[in-house]
Amino acid sequence: MVTSAMSKVTDALIGAARLASTGQWDPALREELFERHKAVADVLVGDDAARHEAVLDALRQRLERFEKLCFGLSMVHELTPRLLDAISGTGEMLSAPLVAAAIASRGRTSQAVDATELIVTTDQHGGAEPLTDETRVKTTERLKPAIARGEIPVVTGFVAATADGVMTTLGRGGTDYSASIVGAALGADEVWIWTDVDGVMTANPSEVPEARTLAEISYSEASELAYYGAKVLHYKTILPAFRQRIPVRVLNSFNPGHPGTRVTVEGHPSAQGVKAVTSIRGVILVAISGTGMQGIPGIVAKTFDVVAAQQANVLMISQASSENNICFVLSAAEAPRVVAALRTALEFELMRGHIEEIEEQQVAIVAAVGDRMRGAPGIAATVFGALGEAGVNVIAISQGSSERNISLVVTERDAADAVRAIHRAFQLDKMS
Ligand code: ASP
Ligand code: MG
Repeated sequence: MVTSAMSKVTDALIGAARLASTGQWDPALREELFERHKAVADVLVGDDAARHEAVLDALRQRLERFEKLCFGLSMVHELTPRLLDAISGTGEMLSAPLVAAAIASRGRTSQAVDATELIVTTDQHGGAEPLTDETRVKTTERLKPAIARGEIPVVTGFVAATADGVMTTLGRGGTDYSASIVGAALGADEVWIWTDVDGVMTANPSEVPEARTLAEISYSEASELAYYGAKVLHYKTILPAFRQRIPVRVLNSFNPGHPGTRVTVEGHPSAQGVKAVTSIRGVILVAISGTGMQGIPGIVAKTFDVVAAQQANVLMISQASSENNICFVLSAAEAPRVVAALRTALEFELMRGHIEEIEEQQVAIVAAVGDRMRGAPGIAATVFGALGEAGVNVIAISQGSSERNISLVVTERDAADAVRAIHRAFQLDKMS
Protein backbone atom coordinates (compact mmCIF):
# COMPACT_ATOMS: atom_id res chain seq x y z
CA MET A 1 0.00 0.00 0.00
CA VAL A 2 1.19 3.50 -0.86
CA THR A 3 -0.16 6.58 0.87
CA SER A 4 -0.34 10.25 0.02
CA ALA A 5 -0.21 13.19 2.43
CA MET A 6 -3.42 14.46 3.99
CA SER A 7 -5.24 17.06 1.98
CA LYS A 8 -3.46 20.45 1.67
CA VAL A 9 -0.55 19.32 3.86
CA THR A 10 1.97 19.39 0.99
CA ASP A 11 0.87 22.92 0.08
CA ALA A 12 1.34 24.02 3.69
CA LEU A 13 4.82 22.46 3.82
CA ILE A 14 5.90 24.16 0.62
CA GLY A 15 4.47 27.45 1.90
CA ALA A 16 6.42 27.06 5.13
CA ALA A 17 9.63 26.32 3.22
CA ARG A 18 9.18 29.44 1.08
CA LEU A 19 8.51 31.54 4.16
CA ALA A 20 11.53 30.08 5.96
CA SER A 21 13.74 30.99 3.02
CA THR A 22 12.85 34.63 3.67
CA GLY A 23 14.03 34.22 7.25
CA GLN A 24 10.59 33.84 8.76
CA TRP A 25 9.11 30.92 10.57
CA ASP A 26 5.56 30.29 11.65
CA PRO A 27 5.85 28.26 14.85
CA ALA A 28 2.12 27.46 14.77
CA LEU A 29 2.46 25.17 11.75
CA ARG A 30 4.30 22.35 13.47
CA GLU A 31 1.65 22.29 16.19
CA GLU A 32 -1.15 22.50 13.64
CA LEU A 33 0.21 19.57 11.66
CA PHE A 34 0.69 17.57 14.82
CA GLU A 35 -2.85 18.23 16.03
CA ARG A 36 -4.37 17.40 12.68
CA HIS A 37 -2.62 14.05 12.44
CA LYS A 38 -3.15 13.32 16.13
CA ALA A 39 -6.89 13.84 15.70
CA VAL A 40 -6.85 11.09 13.05
CA ALA A 41 -4.73 8.84 15.26
CA ASP A 42 -7.23 9.39 18.11
CA VAL A 43 -10.05 8.12 15.93
CA LEU A 44 -8.14 5.27 14.27
CA VAL A 45 -6.14 3.82 17.16
CA GLY A 46 -7.27 5.82 20.19
CA ASP A 47 -8.36 2.69 22.03
CA ASP A 48 -4.89 1.13 21.90
CA ALA A 49 -2.69 3.22 24.18
CA ALA A 50 0.66 1.69 23.18
CA ARG A 51 -0.01 1.93 19.47
CA HIS A 52 -1.41 5.44 19.83
CA GLU A 53 1.70 6.59 21.66
CA ALA A 54 3.98 4.96 19.06
CA VAL A 55 2.21 6.86 16.29
CA LEU A 56 2.47 10.15 18.15
CA ASP A 57 6.17 9.50 18.63
CA ALA A 58 6.61 8.93 14.92
CA LEU A 59 4.72 12.15 14.18
CA ARG A 60 6.84 14.15 16.64
CA GLN A 61 10.06 12.77 15.19
CA ARG A 62 9.13 13.63 11.64
CA LEU A 63 7.87 17.08 12.56
CA GLU A 64 11.07 17.75 14.40
CA ARG A 65 13.03 16.90 11.28
CA PHE A 66 10.76 19.24 9.32
CA GLU A 67 11.28 22.06 11.80
CA LYS A 68 15.04 21.62 11.79
CA LEU A 69 15.14 21.75 7.99
CA CYS A 70 13.06 24.94 7.98
CA PHE A 71 15.17 26.43 10.73
CA GLY A 72 18.33 25.77 8.74
CA LEU A 73 16.67 27.25 5.72
CA SER A 74 15.73 30.41 7.60
CA MET A 75 19.41 30.85 8.40
CA VAL A 76 20.83 30.30 4.93
CA HIS A 77 17.95 32.02 3.10
CA GLU A 78 18.26 29.79 0.09
CA LEU A 79 15.61 27.33 -0.89
CA THR A 80 17.29 24.85 -3.23
CA PRO A 81 15.15 22.27 -5.08
CA ARG A 82 16.96 19.63 -3.09
CA LEU A 83 15.97 21.16 0.22
CA LEU A 84 12.42 21.74 -0.96
CA ASP A 85 12.13 18.00 -1.70
CA ALA A 86 13.41 17.12 1.78
CA ILE A 87 10.69 19.33 3.26
CA SER A 88 7.73 18.80 0.92
CA GLY A 89 7.79 15.02 1.39
CA THR A 90 7.07 15.37 5.10
CA GLY A 91 3.31 15.02 4.57
CA GLU A 92 3.66 11.42 3.36
CA MET A 93 6.07 10.68 6.21
CA LEU A 94 3.32 11.77 8.60
CA SER A 95 0.47 9.84 7.03
CA ALA A 96 2.26 6.50 6.49
CA PRO A 97 2.61 5.68 10.23
CA LEU A 98 -1.06 6.62 10.71
CA VAL A 99 -2.26 4.27 8.01
CA ALA A 100 0.04 1.47 9.15
CA ALA A 101 -1.25 1.81 12.71
CA ALA A 102 -4.85 1.75 11.50
CA ILE A 103 -4.21 -1.48 9.58
CA ALA A 104 -2.32 -3.01 12.49
CA SER A 105 -5.16 -2.19 14.89
CA ARG A 106 -7.40 -4.25 12.65
CA GLY A 107 -5.31 -7.33 13.14
CA ARG A 108 -2.77 -7.32 10.29
CA THR A 109 0.92 -6.73 10.77
CA SER A 110 1.73 -3.44 9.13
CA GLN A 111 4.69 -1.13 9.07
CA ALA A 112 5.37 2.30 7.57
CA VAL A 113 8.15 2.13 5.00
CA ASP A 114 9.96 5.17 3.73
CA ALA A 115 9.98 5.12 -0.09
CA THR A 116 13.52 6.53 0.02
CA GLU A 117 14.44 2.90 0.80
CA LEU A 118 12.64 1.62 -2.30
CA ILE A 119 12.39 4.01 -5.21
CA VAL A 120 15.68 5.09 -6.79
CA THR A 121 15.47 8.15 -9.03
CA THR A 122 17.46 10.67 -11.02
CA ASP A 123 18.42 13.85 -9.17
CA GLN A 124 15.90 16.09 -10.94
CA HIS A 125 14.50 17.50 -7.75
CA GLY A 126 10.82 18.34 -7.82
CA GLY A 127 10.13 15.88 -10.64
CA ALA A 128 12.59 13.01 -10.42
CA GLU A 129 12.36 10.00 -12.72
CA PRO A 130 12.55 6.46 -11.37
CA LEU A 131 15.41 4.17 -12.36
CA THR A 132 13.59 0.94 -13.05
CA ASP A 133 16.21 -1.72 -12.40
CA GLU A 134 17.62 -0.19 -9.22
CA THR A 135 14.09 0.37 -7.95
CA ARG A 136 13.06 -3.20 -8.65
CA VAL A 137 16.03 -4.60 -6.75
CA LYS A 138 15.54 -2.40 -3.70
CA THR A 139 11.77 -2.70 -3.61
CA THR A 140 11.67 -6.47 -3.94
CA GLU A 141 14.43 -6.92 -1.36
CA ARG A 142 12.71 -4.69 1.13
CA LEU A 143 9.05 -5.54 0.59
CA LYS A 144 8.77 -9.09 -0.78
CA PRO A 145 9.73 -10.89 2.44
CA ALA A 146 7.24 -8.82 4.47
CA ILE A 147 4.47 -9.41 1.93
CA ALA A 148 5.31 -13.13 1.90
CA ARG A 149 4.78 -13.14 5.67
CA GLY A 150 1.32 -11.64 5.12
CA GLU A 151 2.27 -8.17 6.29
CA ILE A 152 1.00 -4.97 4.71
CA PRO A 153 3.79 -2.41 4.25
CA VAL A 154 2.58 1.19 3.98
CA VAL A 155 4.90 3.13 1.70
CA THR A 156 5.20 6.92 1.59
CA GLY A 157 4.02 8.15 -1.81
CA PHE A 158 5.54 11.10 -3.68
CA VAL A 159 9.02 10.75 -2.17
CA ALA A 160 12.01 8.77 -3.38
CA ALA A 161 15.80 9.06 -3.26
CA THR A 162 18.77 9.16 -5.58
CA ALA A 163 21.23 6.26 -5.63
CA ASP A 164 23.24 8.26 -3.07
CA GLY A 165 20.25 8.41 -0.76
CA VAL A 166 19.37 12.08 -1.28
CA MET A 167 15.63 12.58 -0.95
CA THR A 168 13.73 13.49 -4.13
CA THR A 169 10.06 13.89 -5.06
CA LEU A 170 8.20 12.65 -8.11
CA GLY A 171 6.28 15.86 -8.84
CA ARG A 172 3.01 17.18 -7.42
CA GLY A 173 0.32 14.54 -7.21
CA GLY A 174 3.09 11.97 -7.46
CA THR A 175 1.64 9.42 -5.06
CA ASP A 176 -0.29 7.67 -7.82
CA TYR A 177 2.96 7.49 -9.72
CA SER A 178 4.66 5.96 -6.67
CA ALA A 179 1.94 3.32 -6.50
CA SER A 180 2.45 2.42 -10.12
CA ILE A 181 6.25 2.29 -9.70
CA VAL A 182 6.04 0.06 -6.63
CA GLY A 183 3.36 -2.14 -8.26
CA ALA A 184 5.54 -2.57 -11.33
CA ALA A 185 8.64 -3.30 -9.24
CA LEU A 186 6.77 -6.02 -7.37
CA GLY A 187 5.07 -7.43 -10.47
CA ALA A 188 1.65 -6.82 -8.90
CA ASP A 189 -1.52 -8.31 -10.42
CA GLU A 190 -3.21 -4.91 -10.44
CA VAL A 191 -2.50 -1.38 -9.21
CA TRP A 192 -5.44 0.29 -7.49
CA ILE A 193 -5.58 4.06 -7.28
CA TRP A 194 -8.04 5.36 -4.71
CA THR A 195 -9.24 8.82 -5.66
CA ASP A 196 -12.34 10.86 -4.87
CA VAL A 197 -14.29 10.10 -8.05
CA ASP A 198 -15.85 6.91 -9.43
CA GLY A 199 -13.24 6.58 -12.16
CA VAL A 200 -12.59 8.01 -15.59
CA MET A 201 -15.74 9.46 -17.10
CA THR A 202 -17.03 10.03 -20.62
CA ALA A 203 -16.88 13.78 -19.89
CA ASN A 204 -16.54 16.19 -17.01
CA PRO A 205 -19.85 15.76 -15.14
CA SER A 206 -19.97 19.44 -14.24
CA GLU A 207 -20.05 20.15 -17.98
CA VAL A 208 -22.13 17.14 -19.04
CA PRO A 209 -24.52 16.00 -16.30
CA GLU A 210 -25.30 12.72 -18.10
CA ALA A 211 -21.59 11.72 -18.25
CA ARG A 212 -20.90 8.10 -17.30
CA THR A 213 -18.04 6.26 -15.68
CA LEU A 214 -16.13 4.12 -18.18
CA ALA A 215 -15.72 0.52 -17.02
CA GLU A 216 -12.57 -0.08 -19.02
CA ILE A 217 -10.22 2.02 -21.11
CA SER A 218 -6.86 1.37 -22.71
CA TYR A 219 -3.56 2.82 -21.54
CA SER A 220 -3.41 5.02 -24.61
CA GLU A 221 -6.92 6.33 -24.03
CA ALA A 222 -6.04 7.01 -20.41
CA SER A 223 -2.98 8.96 -21.42
CA GLU A 224 -4.90 10.97 -24.05
CA LEU A 225 -7.56 11.76 -21.46
CA ALA A 226 -5.04 12.68 -18.80
CA TYR A 227 -3.33 14.97 -21.30
CA TYR A 228 -6.59 16.61 -22.25
CA GLY A 229 -7.57 17.63 -18.80
CA ALA A 230 -9.32 14.65 -17.21
CA LYS A 231 -7.38 15.14 -14.02
CA VAL A 232 -8.15 11.71 -12.59
CA LEU A 233 -4.84 10.17 -13.54
CA HIS A 234 -1.46 11.84 -13.46
CA TYR A 235 -0.24 11.49 -17.03
CA LYS A 236 2.91 9.61 -16.08
CA THR A 237 1.18 7.47 -13.49
CA ILE A 238 0.26 4.54 -15.62
CA LEU A 239 3.55 4.25 -17.51
CA PRO A 240 5.43 1.92 -15.13
CA ALA A 241 2.39 -0.36 -14.89
CA PHE A 242 1.81 -0.18 -18.63
CA ARG A 243 5.35 -1.30 -19.44
CA GLN A 244 4.57 -4.51 -17.63
CA ARG A 245 0.98 -4.82 -18.78
CA ILE A 246 -0.30 -4.47 -15.22
CA PRO A 247 -3.90 -3.21 -15.17
CA VAL A 248 -4.52 0.00 -13.21
CA ARG A 249 -7.87 0.48 -11.50
CA VAL A 250 -9.18 3.91 -10.53
CA LEU A 251 -11.50 3.68 -7.52
CA ASN A 252 -13.39 6.08 -5.27
CA SER A 253 -12.54 6.08 -1.57
CA PHE A 254 -15.87 7.79 -0.89
CA ASN A 255 -17.79 5.13 -2.81
CA PRO A 256 -15.72 1.96 -2.36
CA GLY A 257 -18.45 -0.35 -3.68
CA HIS A 258 -18.18 1.18 -7.16
CA PRO A 259 -16.03 -0.91 -9.53
CA GLY A 260 -14.35 2.21 -10.94
CA THR A 261 -12.43 2.23 -14.22
CA ARG A 262 -9.94 -0.40 -15.24
CA VAL A 263 -7.07 0.65 -17.48
CA THR A 264 -5.81 -2.25 -19.59
CA VAL A 265 -3.88 -2.97 -22.77
CA GLU A 266 -6.98 -3.64 -24.83
CA GLY A 267 -9.44 -1.21 -23.29
CA HIS A 268 -13.07 -1.97 -23.85
CA PRO A 269 -14.12 -2.20 -27.46
CA SER A 270 -16.64 0.48 -28.22
CA ALA A 271 -18.85 0.41 -31.28
CA GLN A 272 -18.99 4.18 -31.62
CA GLY A 273 -15.26 4.71 -31.56
CA VAL A 274 -15.31 7.84 -29.41
CA LYS A 275 -15.17 7.04 -25.72
CA ALA A 276 -14.84 10.36 -24.03
CA VAL A 277 -14.82 14.10 -24.70
CA THR A 278 -12.73 16.49 -22.69
CA SER A 279 -11.84 20.13 -22.80
CA ILE A 280 -9.03 22.37 -21.64
CA ARG A 281 -10.00 25.97 -20.98
CA GLY A 282 -7.96 29.09 -20.75
CA VAL A 283 -5.29 28.09 -23.25
CA ILE A 284 -3.78 30.35 -25.90
CA LEU A 285 -3.88 29.78 -29.63
CA VAL A 286 -0.86 31.32 -31.32
CA ALA A 287 -1.30 31.79 -35.05
CA ILE A 288 1.47 32.74 -37.44
CA SER A 289 0.15 33.71 -40.81
CA GLY A 290 0.98 35.37 -44.06
CA THR A 291 0.56 34.54 -47.73
CA GLY A 292 4.32 34.94 -48.09
CA MET A 293 4.99 31.94 -45.87
CA GLN A 294 4.25 29.58 -48.70
CA GLY A 295 7.29 27.66 -49.78
CA ILE A 296 9.68 29.56 -47.49
CA PRO A 297 11.51 26.79 -45.72
CA GLY A 298 12.44 27.00 -42.10
CA ILE A 299 9.61 29.03 -40.62
CA VAL A 300 8.11 26.00 -38.91
CA ALA A 301 11.55 24.88 -37.72
CA LYS A 302 12.35 28.34 -36.37
CA THR A 303 9.00 28.60 -34.67
CA PHE A 304 9.33 25.35 -32.79
CA ASP A 305 12.97 26.01 -31.97
CA VAL A 306 11.74 29.08 -30.13
CA VAL A 307 9.02 27.10 -28.39
CA ALA A 308 11.57 24.50 -27.32
CA ALA A 309 14.08 27.11 -26.16
CA GLN A 310 11.32 28.60 -23.99
CA GLN A 311 10.66 25.12 -22.63
CA ALA A 312 6.99 25.53 -23.42
CA ASN A 313 4.68 22.59 -23.81
CA VAL A 314 2.67 22.53 -27.05
CA LEU A 315 -0.83 21.16 -26.50
CA MET A 316 -1.81 21.00 -30.15
CA ILE A 317 -0.48 21.95 -33.59
CA SER A 318 -2.20 22.55 -36.88
CA GLN A 319 -1.00 23.69 -40.27
CA ALA A 320 -3.16 23.96 -43.34
CA SER A 321 -1.65 22.54 -46.51
CA SER A 322 -1.79 26.01 -48.07
CA GLU A 323 1.05 26.76 -45.64
CA ASN A 324 -0.37 30.22 -45.10
CA ASN A 325 -0.93 29.64 -41.43
CA ILE A 326 0.51 27.57 -38.67
CA CYS A 327 -1.08 27.60 -35.31
CA PHE A 328 -0.48 25.91 -32.02
CA VAL A 329 -1.85 26.00 -28.52
CA LEU A 330 0.06 26.80 -25.34
CA SER A 331 -0.86 27.25 -21.71
CA ALA A 332 -1.74 30.80 -20.72
CA ALA A 333 1.29 30.90 -18.43
CA GLU A 334 3.74 30.08 -21.21
CA ALA A 335 2.24 31.94 -24.15
CA PRO A 336 3.42 35.52 -23.43
CA ARG A 337 7.11 34.68 -23.26
CA VAL A 338 6.92 32.37 -26.29
CA VAL A 339 5.18 35.03 -28.39
CA ALA A 340 7.67 37.69 -27.34
CA ALA A 341 10.53 35.36 -28.29
CA LEU A 342 8.84 34.53 -31.60
CA ARG A 343 8.53 38.20 -32.55
CA THR A 344 12.25 38.55 -32.03
CA ALA A 345 13.26 35.33 -33.77
CA LEU A 346 11.00 35.97 -36.75
CA GLU A 347 11.78 39.67 -37.00
CA PHE A 348 13.29 39.30 -40.44
CA GLU A 349 10.33 37.36 -41.82
CA LEU A 350 7.94 39.90 -40.32
CA MET A 351 9.92 42.78 -41.80
CA ARG A 352 10.07 41.17 -45.22
CA GLY A 353 6.34 40.47 -45.08
CA HIS A 354 6.75 36.72 -45.33
CA ILE A 355 4.82 36.65 -42.13
CA GLU A 356 2.01 39.15 -41.78
CA GLU A 357 1.12 38.60 -38.19
CA ILE A 358 1.59 36.62 -35.02
CA GLU A 359 -1.69 36.55 -33.17
CA GLU A 360 -2.80 35.26 -29.80
CA GLN A 361 -6.29 34.31 -28.77
CA GLN A 362 -7.63 32.76 -25.59
CA VAL A 363 -9.46 29.59 -26.55
CA ALA A 364 -10.46 26.11 -25.43
CA ILE A 365 -9.40 22.75 -26.83
CA VAL A 366 -12.08 20.11 -27.09
CA ALA A 367 -10.83 16.59 -27.69
CA ALA A 368 -12.76 13.47 -28.65
CA VAL A 369 -10.78 10.40 -27.63
CA GLY A 370 -11.03 6.69 -28.37
CA ASP A 371 -8.72 3.94 -29.64
CA ARG A 372 -11.35 2.59 -31.94
CA MET A 373 -11.69 5.82 -33.84
CA ARG A 374 -8.78 4.40 -35.77
CA GLY A 375 -9.81 3.33 -39.22
CA ALA A 376 -13.47 3.96 -38.48
CA PRO A 377 -14.87 6.19 -41.19
CA GLY A 378 -17.49 8.79 -40.41
CA ILE A 379 -16.25 9.77 -36.96
CA ALA A 380 -15.08 13.19 -38.05
CA ALA A 381 -18.34 13.68 -39.96
CA THR A 382 -20.34 12.93 -36.82
CA VAL A 383 -18.18 15.29 -34.76
CA PHE A 384 -18.47 18.18 -37.19
CA GLY A 385 -22.13 17.48 -37.90
CA ALA A 386 -22.87 17.70 -34.19
CA LEU A 387 -20.90 20.92 -33.83
CA GLY A 388 -22.63 22.44 -36.85
CA GLU A 389 -26.02 21.65 -35.39
CA ALA A 390 -25.01 23.15 -32.07
CA GLY A 391 -23.86 26.31 -33.86
CA VAL A 392 -20.26 25.93 -32.70
CA ASN A 393 -17.60 27.52 -34.87
CA VAL A 394 -14.40 25.47 -35.12
CA ILE A 395 -11.27 27.63 -35.23
CA ALA A 396 -8.66 24.91 -35.79
CA ILE A 397 -8.55 21.14 -36.04
CA SER A 398 -5.95 18.51 -35.46
CA GLN A 399 -6.02 14.77 -35.67
CA GLY A 400 -2.86 12.87 -34.98
CA SER A 401 -2.16 9.99 -37.31
CA SER A 402 -2.67 7.66 -34.36
CA GLU A 403 -6.35 8.52 -34.96
CA ARG A 404 -7.03 8.20 -31.27
CA ASN A 405 -7.93 11.80 -30.82
CA ILE A 406 -9.61 14.57 -32.74
CA SER A 407 -8.82 17.93 -31.19
CA LEU A 408 -10.66 21.12 -31.98
CA VAL A 409 -10.02 24.69 -31.01
CA VAL A 410 -13.17 26.66 -30.19
CA THR A 411 -13.85 29.87 -28.29
CA GLU A 412 -14.14 29.44 -24.55
CA ARG A 413 -17.77 30.44 -24.76
CA ASP A 414 -18.50 27.54 -27.12
CA ALA A 415 -16.50 24.90 -25.24
CA ALA A 416 -19.28 23.49 -23.06
CA ASP A 417 -21.73 23.36 -25.98
CA ALA A 418 -19.14 21.61 -28.10
CA VAL A 419 -18.44 18.98 -25.45
CA ARG A 420 -22.14 18.35 -24.89
CA ALA A 421 -22.88 18.12 -28.62
CA ILE A 422 -20.17 15.51 -29.22
CA HIS A 423 -21.18 13.59 -26.10
CA ARG A 424 -24.74 13.46 -27.39
CA ALA A 425 -23.80 12.58 -30.96
CA PHE A 426 -21.87 9.48 -29.86
CA GLN A 427 -24.47 8.60 -27.23
CA LEU A 428 -21.81 8.50 -24.57
CA ASP A 429 -24.51 8.63 -21.89
CA LYS A 430 -25.25 5.03 -22.87
CA MET A 431 -21.58 4.01 -22.71
CA SER A 432 -20.32 1.61 -20.10
N1 ASP B 1 1.31 15.02 -1.45
C1 ASP B 1 1.77 15.20 -2.79
C2 ASP B 1 1.09 16.41 -3.41
O1 ASP B 1 0.22 17.00 -2.82
C3 ASP B 1 1.60 13.98 -3.61
C4 ASP B 1 0.17 13.54 -3.80
O2 ASP B 1 -0.75 14.04 -3.17
O3 ASP B 1 -0.04 12.66 -4.64
O4 ASP B 1 1.45 16.77 -4.49
MG1 MG C 1 -2.96 13.59 -3.72
